[in-house]
Amino acid sequence: MALDSKIPQGPIADKWTNYKNHIDLVNPANKRNIDVIVVGTGLAGGSAAATLAELGYNVKAFCFQDSPRRAHSIAAQGGINAAKNYQGDGDSTYRLFYDTVKGGDYRSREANVYRLAEVSANIIDQCVAQGVPFAREYGGLLDNRSFGGVLVSRTFYAAGQTGQQLLLGAYSAMNRQIGRGKIKMYNRHEMLDVVKVDGKARGIITRNLITGEIERHSAHAVVLGTGGYGNVFFLSTNAMGSNVTAAWKAHKRGAYFANPCYTQIHPTCIPVSGDHQSKLTLMSESLRNDGRIWVPKHMKDVEAIRNRTLMPKDLAEDDRDYYLERRYPAFGNLVPRDVASRAAKERCDAGFGVNATGEAVFLDFASAIQRYGKEAAHVKGLDENDAALVKKLGQEVIKNKYGNLFQMYEKIVDQDPYNTPMMIYPAVHYTMGGIWVDYNLMTTVPGLYCIGEANFSDHGANRLGASALMQGLADGYFVLPYTIGDYLSDDIRTGTIPTDSKEFEEAENEVKEKLNFFVTNKGKHSVDYFHKKLGKIMWNKVGMARNVKGLTEAISEIKALRTAFWKDVKVPGTNEEYNEELAKAGRVADFLELGELFAKDALNREESCGGHFREDAVELDGEQKGEAKRDDENFAYVSAWEYKGEPSDAVLHKEQLEFKDIELKQRSYK
Ligand SMILES: Cc1cc2nc3c(=O)[nH]c(=O)nc-3n(C[C@H](O)[C@H](O)[C@H](O)COP(=O)(O)OP(=O)(O)OC[C@H]3O[C@@H](n4cnc5c(N)ncnc54)[C@H](O)[C@@H]3O)c2cc1C
Repeated sequence: MALDSKIPQGPIADKWTNYKNHIDLVNPANKRNIDVIVVGTGLAGGSAAATLAELGYNVKAFCFQDSPRRAHSIAAQGGINAAKNYQGDGDSTYRLFYDTVKGGDYRSREANVYRLAEVSANIIDQCVAQGVPFAREYGGLLDNRSFGGVLVSRTFYAAGQTGQQLLLGAYSAMNRQIGRGKIKMYNRHEMLDVVKVDGKARGIITRNLITGEIERHSAHAVVLGTGGYGNVFFLSTNAMGSNVTAAWKAHKRGAYFANPCYTQIHPTCIPVSGDHQSKLTLMSESLRNDGRIWVPKHMKDVEAIRNRTLMPKDLAEDDRDYYLERRYPAFGNLVPRDVASRAAKERCDAGFGVNATGEAVFLDFASAIQRYGKEAAHVKGLDENDAALVKKLGQEVIKNKYGNLFQMYEKIVDQDPYNTPMMIYPAVHYTMGGIWVDYNLMTTVPGLYCIGEANFSDHGANRLGASALMQGLADGYFVLPYTIGDYLSDDIRTGTIPTDSKEFEEAENEVKEKLNFFVTNKGKHSVDYFHKKLGKIMWNKVGMARNVKGLTEAISEIKALRTAFWKDVKVPGTNEEYNEELAKAGRVADFLELGELFAKDALNREESCGGHFREDAVELDGEQKGEAKRDDENFAYVSAWEYKGEPSDAVLHKEQLEFKDIELKQRSYK
């Protein structure tokens, strides 16, 4: 399939849909004849389900949690971007467009990103109208903060709970439609396959996670908003349940998988503490507004800090290396995540890591506490030279801004970050790759759509902070509900799709067979045993720095691990009950296939771009020495992989990226 033919290049927002067809659907009576399945009720799926129902479609929505309110989106802390220019700092649609394309290291589609920037401001209005309690300034206007990779302040936030508050907004909108009978909600239902009839997506097979019952559900179109696949690394900041199964099943049914190797490793996470850990915790990027990142300049101080004969707060300023401020004077601590993560790794690899494992750097709030404290004392007419008072006032300001994050850190690490710098290290956080979609967000399977983190659409090789929520809600509230009409207008008179066809039967039987295999296989090892091994291969050989040798080894090691999994996996319990191990087994089986495709994609991309860093593609001299080196001549394309059986057989299709409004150049944050 020629992918490029379906993509308008450049900012052509008026080409969103084919209005000639769409016009049939303006009549609400026609929409009442159309069923849409939405799998996933996080920010992307939840907002889409609510809007589709509002427009008049009959929606069936599915999630595997006990409530849409528990989607992984609830974890988002820092904020959501929008080009409102409330700070009067020169922000604009164009600037958000530009920052996002540059931030993604020129590996995203201009047209999509421009549309995203255009609708960003509407999202804030929509959410405010829903009652989302965004932070406000003293005068009552919505407040903003800055995130990495930009020099303006455009991030809207609700303390450290932005995702939760936005999700409650989408959930309330959904609930209204559930009440009206326009959405039928299926909690605790896991989608295990897409059903295609005559080449079109016409339904899904689900498992009721409480009873084990396998169900068939039909519709005229299927929308996946099923989140990202960072848990292929086992340890990540994602919710424990986040998985690739829905996307992978869609891939196996013909949806191309794009740029699987584009992964975001977030620089500010609590470092790994041991082998028994199953989850990593993010310290929001918003902390880089006020926290300064450093390691000691001298080895003797590193050692003293590690063996606790020196407290970090007692190390003299001159003996500290604020390496981001040193290397990137223009953006300092607010460089994009991929740049900050690599810089932390570089210092730790050079031996300057400050914890016992040598994999941690400091995030220090002492200067901000001083600065805010002095200002507060001045405002209150108090003594600015009273050190204890200034510290107390400064800590209060920091507490108001980041209190819940500081509390979380203290609970996990048992250190008080108001008085000693936090220790942080990069961790897997977000996946820019995902199901390939065209400009209307349709996959290569007609009638199958993909939105939010599950698709690949807008972030290129690196997502900027606070842009995931923006993309998820743009897709859900403002793009998909309108573009899908183009496709559905052909189905006005189709009538209900029957579920007793051979296609549904075959898909259901395949699902049942696999589940039966798991509960009857007499293996020796738990699902987690294999997942942890996969995670180690991914982190060590397909993680923050990649090379040909490591990637080639990873491919054969994952293949071997997959064989071992199918031979030796042990799943206790039965099919007909709540069985979390059984659910996990299916998800890890899919991760074991995705992992190999991921490594294959990373091996194919012989350049460094964004989160994909190849050790053999580095600038060797000049001002950019040591930085990632892109190869625009040979790799300015989206890799879209077609399923052909084993991941090693997957076929690469290239969507060439054209840059008409933004000049392709070396990304510099110096
Ligand atoms: C700790 C953390 C903090 C973050 N902070 C920010 C931030 O401040 N700003 C920002 O912009 N981004 C942030 N992000 C990223 C952002 O939260 C996510 O990218 C975004 O919430 C994803 O939304 P989504 O709707 O696409 O998917 P999700 O919220 O992951 O929802 C997926 C949905 O799909 C369902 N699902 C999945 N598979 C199946 C299946 N097989 N069957 C049925 N249902 C299924 C789930 O039940 C769920 O409802 C953060 C991420 C993390 C990990």
